[in-house]
Amino acid sequence: MKAALITGASRGIGAGCALAFAREGYAVGINHRSSAEDAEKIAQQCRELGVEAEVFAADVADAGQAQGMVEAFVERFGRIDALVNNAGGALRMPPGGFVDMPIEYWDNQIALNLSAASYCAQAAARSMIATDVQGAIINISSIHGDVTWVRRKALPYSAAKGGLNMFTKAIGVELIKHGINVNCIAPGLIHTKALDRYSERDLNGFNRKIPFGGGGTPADIAELAVFLADKAKSRFIVGQTITVDGGQSIDGSIDAMLDDEF
Ligand code: NAP
Repeated sequence: MKAALITGASRGIGAGCALAFAREGYAVGINHRSSAEDAEKIAQQCRELGVEAEVFAADVADAGQAQGMVEAFVERFGRIDALVNNAGGALRMPPGGFVDMPIEYWDNQIALNLSAASYCAQAAARSMIATDVQGAIINISSIHGDVTWVRRKALPYSAAKGGLNMFTKAIGVELIKHGINVNCIAPGLIHTKALDRYSERDLNGFNRKIPFGGGGTPADIAELAVFLADKAKSRFIVGQTITVDGGQSIDGSIDAMLDDEF
């Protein structure tokens, strides 16, 4: 049985990915940092789809925990066919602009939204090469990796996601020599708990500005992740960042959204 590890899978896009991989028959590893109960619920839903599923608690922003988790996953399932580096998120910036930005805020956001993917990908790639598995690594970026979010005060988040897009290209060209495909998905607004910080009024405003007519769902991202892990369908896609945003980043609607405050 193929096996997929999804980071940050206790809810939102990661949970959507876990369920989509389970539907495809993969054994699934559900990583979380603190939401153990939610993670176990998603694992149970995967088991009900007829596959093995296990929860892996680890802070992926910590190199030792992240790499230890990938090793524990391989020990449990014997292999890793797909890694989805999904854990991430933008924390509201403390008051003030870049010049007042606390170093810890920068470090934490870069660790979560960029370094974590490198920690997990390195351990996964080592295992795939050692076990001769021609697998896939899928990074979850953001449209803000390409279009800055400076005025919304999530500057290190944008920098990290932009770095993740370039990281995807860089390891994509190295790992394809081993038959490992690395690609990236850049979501626009996706309805998850991460949006709870916004008022209903703000959310309605965001939705109106998206050409599709509103934000997407975790399944919109998860279906592409499953496709990118399926070498029979996606073997010639290497190091790419694919935008999935209902047209949000095309027509200037991001600029309009920049006027809204956190
Ligand atoms: P979410 O609903 O806030 O869920 C985040 C998940 O990541 C949770 O399972 C959380 O688990 C986990 N997590 C957070 N920090 C972690 C850590 N240090 N170690 C391990 N797990 C951690 O987020 P989402 O909206 O689904 O977003 C998922 C990804 O998509 C993120 O990379 C985000 O940047 C990207 N994205 C989202 C949107 C959007 O509109 N939603 C748009 C563009 C990009 P715990 O609670 O246990 O920590």
